[in-house]
Amino acid sequence: MEGASWHGKILRVDLTDRTSAVENLSQKIYQDYIGGKGLGSYLLYRDLKAGIDSLSKDNILLFMTGPLQGLSAPNVGRWTLVTKSPLTGLYLDTHCGGPLGREIKNAGYDAIAVVGKSDVPITLIINDSNIEFRNAQPLWGKGTHEATHILHEQTAKGSAVYVIGPAGENLVLSATGCCELAHQTGRGGAGAVLGSKNLKGVVARGTSKLKAADPTAIREVNRTVTKIWNEKTGYGFKEYGTPFLVEISNERGQFPTRNFRNGYFDEYESLTPEKMREWYIGAHLSCPHCIMRCTHAYRTEDPRCPGTEVESTVEYETLGLLGGTLGINNAQCVFQLNHLCDDLGLDTIGAGSAIGFAMEAYERGLLSEDEIGFPLPFGDCEGAKKLVEMIAAREGIGAVLAKGTRLAAKEIGKGSETFAVHVKGLEVPAWDPRGKRGMGLSYATGDVGASHLRGWPQTLDNPDTSALDVVESMVEQRYIKILRDSLIVCHLSYHLPLSHDQNISLLNGATGLNYDVESISIFGQRIETLTRLFNNREGVSRKDDVLPPRLWESETHGPAKGMKSFIDQDDFERSLDKYYELLGWGMDGIPTRKTIEKLGLGSQI
Ligand code: SF4
Repeated sequence: MEGASWHGKILRVDLTDRTSAVENLSQKIYQDYIGGKGLGSYLLYRDLKAGIDSLSKDNILLFMTGPLQGLSAPNVGRWTLVTKSPLTGLYLDTHCGGPLGREIKNAGYDAIAVVGKSDVPITLIINDSNIEFRNAQPLWGKGTHEATHILHEQTAKGSAVYVIGPAGENLVLSATGCCELAHQTGRGGAGAVLGSKNLKGVVARGTSKLKAADPTAIREVNRTVTKIWNEKTGYGFKEYGTPFLVEISNERGQFPTRNFRNGYFDEYESLTPEKMREWYIGAHLSCPHCIMRCTHAYRTEDPRCPGTEVESTVEYETLGLLGGTLGINNAQCVFQLNHLCDDLGLDTIGAGSAIGFAMEAYERGLLSEDEIGFPLPFGDCEGAKKLVEMIAAREGIGAVLAKGTRLAAKEIGKGSETFAVHVKGLEVPAWDPRGKRGMGLSYATGDVGASHLRGWPQTLDNPDTSALDVVESMVEQRYIKILRDSLIVCHLSYHLPLSHDQNISLLNGATGLNYDVESISIFGQRIETLTRLFNNREGVSRKDDVLPPRLWESETHGPAKGMKSFIDQDDFERSLDKYYELLGWGMDGIPTRKTIEKLGLGSQI
C-alpha cells in the first residue's frame, strides 16, 4: 500500500485441503479498521457466520499484526489472535508478546487467516512467500517448551515459534498457545481452537521490511519515551514488572483471595517481589525491542522432574489467581503452578479460577474427596498441582473443570453457580471490583467477558458512592485501549508513559494519514460496536451484561470491607444505561441503526 506500513495483503490458509491464497484489502478497510483488534474484528464479523461451533473446522483463527510491527516503535514486539472463543462462544481477541507479528509482517502479510481442519497434526510454517504444512505428529503431546525448542532446531534461524500444549490438543476451554517460551495468548481458549484444527503451531520468518511513511515521527516518539524511562528511578514496575502490583491491589482491597471471598490476603507479603528476589533470574525473556522488559523469570524446581531447575515467568495476574485465589502463601508453589500451566498450555487465570472454585466446592461439601481423588482445602499446593495436570489431560474431575468455571458449576449444580466467578463464561481476573468504583461495569460489558484489559474508570475510590459519574471515563479509556490493541502497542506502555497523543503520532507516522483524537474516538466506538454486533448475533443483549453473585456479596475483610461492586442494583442499571447511551446503543444493549450507519458499519450488517 503506497507509502503506508500496511501490505494490503492477508494470507488465507485452509488446513482441510492444505491450500493458501492471498486476499488484497482496500485502503479504505485499513483506514477504518487499522490492524490488530480493529481489523481482526472486521474480518471475523465478515467471514464467520452466526452460530458456528468455536471448535468446528469453520471457526477462523486470525493472526493479526498492525501498522507498527516491524518498525522501531516502542513496545510493539507483540501480536494479536482474534477468533470465536470456545469458552464464551463469543468474540475473542487475545494479545501476545513475542516476535510472531513482526515475522508475519516481514514475510509480506498483515494477517494470516486460518480455517479448516487437518486430518493429522501439522505445523504451519511461513518462510517469506513459502508456505509449508509440516507433519506435527512427533510434536503432538509435547509441552510448549520442548515443542518450541524442537521447532527452532528444525526451522530457519530467526523464525518465531508459537505452539499449543497438551491442554489445547485436548480441547480444554481455557487452553492457550505459547510464543517463544514466555508469552501466551492468554484468555478465552484460543489454544483449543488450534487443537480443534489439529494445528500444533505456527512458525513465521520474513526478510523484507516495510518502512514507515514518516520514520522521523516514529523515531521522535521512541526517543522521547526511552529517555523518560531511562531516567525513572524508584519505580516498582521498572524494578519488578507487574508483580509489584500485589501490594498495591491488596491495599485497595482488590487482591482476589480464596475464590474472591475477599479482596485482601493477610499473607500477601509471601507473594511480593521483594520476597521473591532470592529466586530472581532476570528480565531476559521479554518481548523484542521492548525498553521496559517486564517479563521477569524466577528459578524453581520442575514439579514433574524433582532435582531439575526450570524458569517461571510469573506475572501479577498469576500471583492473584494461582496465589491469593487458592489461598496459597508460597511463591515457589505459584512459580511451579505457573510453569506447569505455561508448559501444558493453560491460561493461569482460567485454571486458577477453576481450581479456586473447586476448593470452595470441596470446603462446602459439594465436591467430595472421592470425586476429586484427594482432599482439596484452600492453600493446598500439591492438590493444586495435581488439578492443573488433570485439567490439561481432562482426567477425572479435571474433565469437568476443563470446561471452565461456568460450565463446571452448571454440571456440579447444588447451588455452586453462586460462587462461580465469571462474566459470560470468562473468569474474573485479579482485580476485585469491590475495591474500585465502577470497575464492575467494565467486566459486565467487556466484549470478551470479564477482562482487566477493556478500560477502567478513572478513579481510585471505593464503590461507596454512585458509579454514574465515572462511566464516561471508562468509555474513554476503552477507546484508548482499542487503539492500542489495534496498533498492537503493549497495554503496559502506560507505565513508560506512552500517551494517547503519542500513539496517534505513531499511527500517523506509520501510515502517513492524519488521524486525530476525534477520529480515533469514532474508531473506538466503531470497533466496540462491531464486536458488540458480533456478540448480539450470538444472542447477547442487556440480560448478559451482569456481574456474578459473588461480586454482589458485601466484602467482609480488609480495606474494602462493607463494599459491593456497586452501591445497589439500581446504580448498576443506571450506569449500564449511561454506557449504552454513550455508545449510541439501545437500552436493550443492541446498537441502533442510526449508530451503525454513523460508524460506517451499515454495509457489514
Ligand atoms: S512491557 Fe512487558 S509485556 Fe509489554 S512489550 Fe515489554 S516485555 Fe512485553
